[in-house]
Amino acid sequence: MKKDRLHFNFQPYTLKLKHPFGIASNTRTTTPVVLTELKWNGITGYGEASMPPYLGESHDTVLNFLSKLKLGDFIDPFDMEGILSYVDNVEKGNTAAKASVDIALHDLTGKLIGQPWYKIWGYDAGKTPYVSYTIGIDTPEIIRKKTEKAAGFKILKVKLGRDTDKQLIETIREVTDVPICVDVNQGWTDKHQALEMIYWLHERNVLFVEQPMPKNLIDDTAWLTEQSPLPVIADESVQRLSDIIGLRGVFSGINIKLMKCTGMREAHKMLELACALDMKIMVGCMTETSCAISAAAQLSPMTDWADLDGALLIKNDVYKGVQIINGKITLSQKPGLGLEKIPEASIR
Ligand code: MG
Repeated sequence: MKKDRLHFNFQPYTLKLKHPFGIASNTRTTTPVVLTELKWNGITGYGEASMPPYLGESHDTVLNFLSKLKLGDFIDPFDMEGILSYVDNVEKGNTAAKASVDIALHDLTGKLIGQPWYKIWGYDAGKTPYVSYTIGIDTPEIIRKKTEKAAGFKILKVKLGRDTDKQLIETIREVTDVPICVDVNQGWTDKHQALEMIYWLHERNVLFVEQPMPKNLIDDTAWLTEQSPLPVIADESVQRLSDIIGLRGVFSGINIKLMKCTGMREAHKMLELACALDMKIMVGCMTETSCAISAAAQLSPMTDWADLDGALLIKNDVYKGVQIINGKITLSQKPGLGLEKIPEASIR
């Protein structure tokens, strides 16, 4: 193979959401992302940074960070540890920006090897979980309609943490009995009330509760996990590999997200560590194109739950990637992340 350097390109893009998206703290209709490309010897790897506003990154911060990178100094894309350590050490934070390089590098190297990443890692495509589909906070009539429309999904996810929580669950239960995952986004502050609510949810076929309490309430969360009939999963409390060890005994498991942990390389290490510690594993996402979703999906055969509906919630995806068939993640044999770029004319 002839000698080449890494060529790096990036551009801002704005995802349009199909429905306004409500969580405990806000509601929004768009998500800023940055699309990246790493080229080497005529092969292109695709990557993405997604920046929901509550995480602190934006078009400006990501473009600023990426413009500082001197990836052309690298001549071997398989020096992944060297390249990604360099990127991680340029500046603190900027985890989504870092993930956009990591994801493109994985797509590129997977294409060079000629295999998808789940195979390179040695995972069984037959073991992918069902995807949970998020029903955003809304009026009971709209919740009912959204639930009816989600009939193809085997697991639903709801965001709780408002005073209408029980009404929301009861409205969904008028339509369907499918299991529900609950994400409280740190919305409950009293551990006794939280436990009472978890018992109530347990009777209504809820699978687990994600980040019930604020991340600084570590002792209260550990108490809650100890008492809880349902697994309690860390999201806001866990960002990177080094956070996991401190969460043992505090949570039953962790939610791994590429945009929080700098991408697939660290996510894979987190997954292996959580497995070794016998913790439950969930892989999650932001609103993202099929690029970052397909990247996260490579890990999914080893996870208990996958909250990877991000690309289903947007109107203007840029890639065709991993498919959700009968509610289940269906990985392809295509190398890298298995992406195809959608011709520009068809992007609405
Ligand atoms: Mg969450």
